[in-house]
Amino acid sequence: MDRVAVLPHVVRRAERLIFSGENTRACRLLAHALADIDPITARPDARLIEAAICYAETLSFEWDIPDRAELQLTWVRYAETAALTCYGRSSQLWQRAAGFYARVCATQGLTFDAVAVLQRTLAAYRTYGPPDRIPEVRGQLAAALHDDGQCAEARTEIHDAWHTWLRTRARIRARSPHVGGQLLTTYASILAGCGQTSDARALLRDHADLVTAEANTSREAAALVAAVQIAMTERDHRPVCTARPAPAVQAPTSTPLPSQRWQVWETLLLKSHPTPSTPLDQRLYRRGSPLPDWS
Ligand SMILES: [Zn+2]
Repeated sequence: MDRVAVLPHVVRRAERLIFSGENTRACRLLAHALADIDPITARPDARLIEAAICYAETLSFEWDIPDRAELQLTWVRYAETAALTCYGRSSQLWQRAAGFYARVCATQGLTFDAVAVLQRTLAAYRTYGPPDRIPEVRGQLAAALHDDGQCAEARTEIHDAWHTWLRTRARIRARSPHVGGQLLTTYASILAGCGQTSDARALLRDHADLVTAEANTSREAAALVAAVQIAMTERDHRPVCTARPAPAVQAPTSTPLPSQRWQVWETLLLKSHPTPSTPLDQRLYRRGSPLPDWS
């Protein structure tokens, strides 16, 4: 039996180990099974795609492996490319591989690649569905554009995604209750990152309940996660921001996050009482951009 033929059995064993909380053993098992296969030259194969995704996922939690980042990127890139060749953009396997590839690119600072794969993913969801995934992917695309320094495009994308979600949330929210909070946090992060702090604060004040009403998370924990994300974007975005002048001295991203900064956002989220009548659209678009037609 050749190396590829045994992979489905290896993946099932690895999945059982992961389910039992033994990620490191699963990762070693997959690494051994894939040791003689080069992801750069390997031919597209469904069995190898499944193993590649599973291996790349286990690598997410194995920080002690020296070449972890390179291994993860190479295998998930193989999975995305091979799944596209074998099954096309309508397949769930390609959509899963593409979503994971985008997350790995974003984590590793490959912002241009993250934007490109998310644009392909969004186009696929719009063509083949499911439509419920579109708001979430639009939020991810907006964040990737922002990370890439395409600030105007990021703001247009998140503004449209957010208002589309607000219009359609009665239908979508039942199946994806977390998406509204994610979009809100991404929107506030983009505004705060580009220096539009008062607009970010106004947005959160008006809709804080979407973040703090997460079904499976305590109110305090949900507010803390959102606050840290916003504060991190404030700290890290400045060097690539194209919406305002570059700073004279750029703080390295390894700088510890000042606790008072995320505490400001956390307090705002926990103490806000929504006032839906606030004409937020006019404030957010007051800098010369035309107000989009949401009809
Ligand atoms: Zn910016």
